[in-house]
Amino acid sequence: MSSTKYVYLFGSHGTEGAAGMKNLLGGKGANLAEMCRLGIPVPPGFTISTEACTAYTTLGRERLLEMIRDEVLAGIRSVEAEMGKRFGDAADPLLLSVRSGARASMPGMMDTILNLGLNDEAVEGLARKAGNERFAWDSYRRFVQMYGDVVMGLKPVSKEEHDPFEVVIDMVKEARGVQLDTELDAADLKELVARFKALIRARIGRDFPVDPWEQLWGAIVAVFDSWNNDRARVYRELNDIPESWGTAVNVQAMVFGNLGDHSATGVAFTRDAGTGEDLFNGEFLVNAQGEDVVAGIRTPQQVSLVGSRRWAELALVPEAERAEKYPSLEELMPDLYRQLIEAETTLENHFRDMQDLEFTIQEGRLWMLQTRNGKRTGAAMVRIAMEMLEQGMIDEKTALERIAPDRLNDLLHPVFDPRALAQARPIARGLPASPGAATGQIVFFADEAEAWSQRGRDVILVRQETSPEDLRGMSVAKGILTARGGMTSHAAVVARGMGKCCVSGCGAVHVDLKARTMTVDGTVYAEGEWISLNGSTGEVYFGRIATRDAELSGDFGKLMALTDKYRTLEIRTNADTPEEAAVARKFGATGIGLCRTEHMFFEGDRIVAVRQMILAEDEAGRRKALAKLLPMQRSDFEGLFREMDGLPVTIRLLDPPLHEFVPHDDAGQLAMARDMGVSLGRIKMRVEELHEFNPMLGHRGCRLGISFPEITEMQARAIFEAALNAKSRGTAVVPEIMVPLVGTIRELDQQAAVIRRVAEQVFAERGETVHWMLGTMIETPRAALVADSIARSAEFFSFGTNDLTQMTMGFSRDDAGSFLPRYLKLGLYEHDPFRSIDQKGVGQLVEMAVAKGRATRPDIELGVCGEHGGDPASIGFFHRAGLRYVSCSPFRVPIARLAAAQAAIAS
Ligand code: PEP
Ligand code: MG
Repeated sequence: MSSTKYVYLFGSHGTEGAAGMKNLLGGKGANLAEMCRLGIPVPPGFTISTEACTAYTTLGRERLLEMIRDEVLAGIRSVEAEMGKRFGDAADPLLLSVRSGARASMPGMMDTILNLGLNDEAVEGLARKAGNERFAWDSYRRFVQMYGDVVMGLKPVSKEEHDPFEVVIDMVKEARGVQLDTELDAADLKELVARFKALIRARIGRDFPVDPWEQLWGAIVAVFDSWNNDRARVYRELNDIPESWGTAVNVQAMVFGNLGDHSATGVAFTRDAGTGEDLFNGEFLVNAQGEDVVAGIRTPQQVSLVGSRRWAELALVPEAERAEKYPSLEELMPDLYRQLIEAETTLENHFRDMQDLEFTIQEGRLWMLQTRNGKRTGAAMVRIAMEMLEQGMIDEKTALERIAPDRLNDLLHPVFDPRALAQARPIARGLPASPGAATGQIVFFADEAEAWSQRGRDVILVRQETSPEDLRGMSVAKGILTARGGMTSHAAVVARGMGKCCVSGCGAVHVDLKARTMTVDGTVYAEGEWISLNGSTGEVYFGRIATRDAELSGDFGKLMALTDKYRTLEIRTNADTPEEAAVARKFGATGIGLCRTEHMFFEGDRIVAVRQMILAEDEAGRRKALAKLLPMQRSDFEGLFREMDGLPVTIRLLDPPLHEFVPHDDAGQLAMARDMGVSLGRIKMRVEELHEFNPMLGHRGCRLGISFPEITEMQARAIFEAALNAKSRGTAVVPEIMVPLVGTIRELDQQAAVIRRVAEQVFAERGETVHWMLGTMIETPRAALVADSIARSAEFFSFGTNDLTQMTMGFSRDDAGSFLPRYLKLGLYEHDPFRSIDQKGVGQLVEMAVAKGRATRPDIELGVCGEHGGDPASIGFFHRAGLRYVSCSPFRVPIARLAAAQAAIAS
């Protein structure tokens, strides 16, 4: 005999488990034991440990049963003693539930058996004892159905059959001429049991077991088996749950909420899971089983009187009708309500977190069936954590750790009205590129988005993919939907910067620009029709769904202040306009980590001068156009410096390939030709010349400044003049000038020479100087590999992890959407590497460049400005890698502050 203990009792006769034993007993089992320890009424039972599951996997059924038999027997005897009933007693049977319960919650993935212990004799005993024949037969019917499916393996023979037992139920209902299961009487249910058993015998070739012990062993093994069913395996893969954990099995006395008007069942939360308000709330049904509350056939009642009145107000139910038809538990069963309040208070104080509870009242007696930390909205997360901190229930670090950074999105952006959303129909799903909710009329062209919105309409801009030309249309649209492009596509990056809802890479959407329609799954949606987007989930809905603006409550401010106390990473922002900078500062950014100067090229009427510069035939022509751009760029930078008020501002020189700026349509090209006084043919030829097969690896980044130093000159001059102007107005700024896409120090030095020359000229002209810094992006793998050399000239590095990911993995930023979802589904990569940094691969290059950069220049300033700078997991990595700051889009600044605080606490 092995001496390992596999079975742990819980109940008022003695409890062997505890909350701290989740690894051994699973979350459910550990919490059931803990409730017993707290003196809370729990139906007695026992937990068979996860170690038994692991042993079963290696040793098989017979050995498992040998190992646990005596302990299970003793467990049953203990439950019998407490319940005053015997397992297998035909006159008054003890019935059991057998449920799974892993270390991590895996909702609905594994199997459950209820009402175990019933057979043709026991059902009669139960009927007599309960004085309720229908109840007894319904319990038996449910048991045979569950057991037949889960333990005996009666599965549908065809897709059409869906559930063979339901087919039988439908037949009986039809014969009886009734619609609902609840309309079947005891005789019908008896007939169902007989038919179910016949079906099992016919299909499986075995009889339904009448011996309760045989039933029990079968159920235990089946629940262990369900650890390895397909659903559970997929869920484990998706949630990184190791197979070796195994599940525990909880065997527990059944209690019934459907034994008449003094019985009920319900679920409750110790605080409001939606708003976080410190208000006990929940729903229950009289004379019902747990599944009836969820099924939504009957209207559940509220547990508290306050909750009930609030519900009635929303549901437009007059008070008299409410009190009569839908009274609260507080009114209906005041004693039991008081007991429930006692239990919820004890549990919340004990676990120091909001609890999600299940309870059953059987003939006037309260039983708690489950407690666990409740799921909640982002707003509730913040409020509950901050209030529990104030109430002295948790400390500051715990409060910070309680909030999932990404969930702050719920507070920062508009959200769908939950009731409107409940009626909505999703038609497709893309990437959750930029969070928030948006509803509007479909338009397919950026200029029309502008025109429509000027007429006061809400629009959703639907494109194959966006380009910088669409910028103004994007800025007025309520949301953006693209058929192509990944998480770092143009649409995604720009939308995040604008704090605008965007769903990208939605492959199911086919855009027909000529017909002005989009087709999804064969359904055609025309321009002007209403659609809605959820940028936080990637869902696309047909129709108009009401949205609600988010409010930044006082708790949010308190939380943000707390993050600053713990974090060591600085949080900067990626901002190209004073407006974005202002938003980011409001959210707490302490610098600009990336100003993409090209985004300024589309502002106002400057695109004309930009195009003239690009289409110019020679340097003289380019200089002429650049001279027009200079004052505009200067005022852009002045605006940024003003807004940032002395905080660091990193400005990157022109980065994207020039073809992005030229018109590709006839009308645009004709206008350009007229503007510049050249033929349409010349324009077309120049556009053709600029065409590249792989622009992302083509003529972009510092390669532009190397080909056309006059562009670098103009940008450097604009920066220095703006900095001097700011200085003369009393704002000391230290511009950090950043050269993009270098691979060798020679590229950097070549550009540095141009910038220095301009600095000297400007300082000489003005008779004054400003301190400035020269740095580079580390965004090609080569730059990371030779970072020690590059650091000789660079005073700072900013990791461009978008390009670094693209080039290290060989995944196109703009095209990965066509294969990456499948990659993720197959688990070839754990997550989208453009969203959360690939720590093992790309991360190594970052770590290497940090070490090499510091070896050359110990005080080198290190930051990151790729999209990963706003991703919580990546922020943890950057903290450990020793960066000084992360830079992210304005709306992610609060998320980054929290993630940085959590990273500091964890290290
Ligand atoms: C990057 O590559 O990470 C970066 C910030 O630059 P961009 O996204 O503009 O290429
Ligand atoms: Mg880049």
